[in-house]
Amino acid sequence: MRARPARLVLLGHPVIHSLSPRFQNAALAAAGIPLTYRAIDVPPGALDDTLRRLRDEGAAGNVTIPHKRRAAAICDLLTPAAARAAAVNTFWVEDGRMVGDNTDIGGFAAAAAALLGAEGGSPGGESDARLAGARIALLGAGGAAYAVLAAAERWPGASVRLFNRTRKHAERAGSAFPGLVELAESSAAAARGASLVVNATSVGLHDDQHPMALAELEADTAVLDVVYRPGETAWVRAARARGHRATDGLPMLIEQGALAFERWFGVTPDREVMRDALR
Ligand code: NAP
Repeated sequence: MRARPARLVLLGHPVIHSLSPRFQNAALAAAGIPLTYRAIDVPPGALDDTLRRLRDEGAAGNVTIPHKRRAAAICDLLTPAAARAAAVNTFWVEDGRMVGDNTDIGGFAAAAAALLGAEGGSPGGESDARLAGARIALLGAGGAAYAVLAAAERWPGASVRLFNRTRKHAERAGSAFPGLVELAESSAAAARGASLVVNATSVGLHDDQHPMALAELEADTAVLDVVYRPGETAWVRAARARGHRATDGLPMLIEQGALAFERWFGVTPDREVMRDALR
């Protein structure tokens, strides 16, 4: 049985700049749940022990960079989503066992659905069907890219052209999603004919660098940057100025957090309260 979590934590390294405590604590207060969501900086060498201690305490929470893959190896049970993405961003304890899930997938699906005008975004739901046939250009082959691929494989007829700086990482992602992914030799080749381009690299996180030149995009390509920064990323601002539908990673961040909240408490958080907390 899933008991109410004794503690709520976010494990990352570094974790000081995370926005999750702000919007999760606002949602907890709005729902009248007397818990505080706390970020804990956990160096990689300490993750195993920390997760085992949290399991004994009956805690729940999130895992962020750089721990998502290792957390998947430590959890006692994985949901199908976490197993598919080979990464855990959400965990809780059930019958003494730590369960790992991945709500980045649903978070991305909801953000893509909203951007492309298919409201809803529940994984496997109606909006997934409306994303049918999406032609996705995907930049990156790390954890966020795997979440994008795990979402896209649920969309009937969707296809992905993937470009990544390090070819062998692109090949690894391609072989994990055969039939969905075609590898591209450049971002321009990936973007040719795409209905949606997704930046799942960390380019643009700390500066105004663009993950690819916007001139390489066709006029009707929508732009989704999983990266977020105060005032949006430079790439998203420039894409919108050029007439593209564009969003940064904030809607995905809020949705993955809202889905995690549902897993922990079995109730729907107030997403507007979460959004307001970040304004
Ligand atoms: P990751 O596993 O470390 O992967 C990083 C990716 O970025 C790799 O493909 C890497 O390429 C590429 N990359 C890094 N620096 C680059 C550069 N200078 N030029 C070209 N490519 C570069 O990280 P991740 O977990 O996938 O996260 C990626 C980004 O997504 C982060 O900024 C993170 O904050 C964001 N994110 C957002 C959400 C959200 O909810 N909005 C959720 C998850 C992640 P190589 O393979 O060549 O190293």
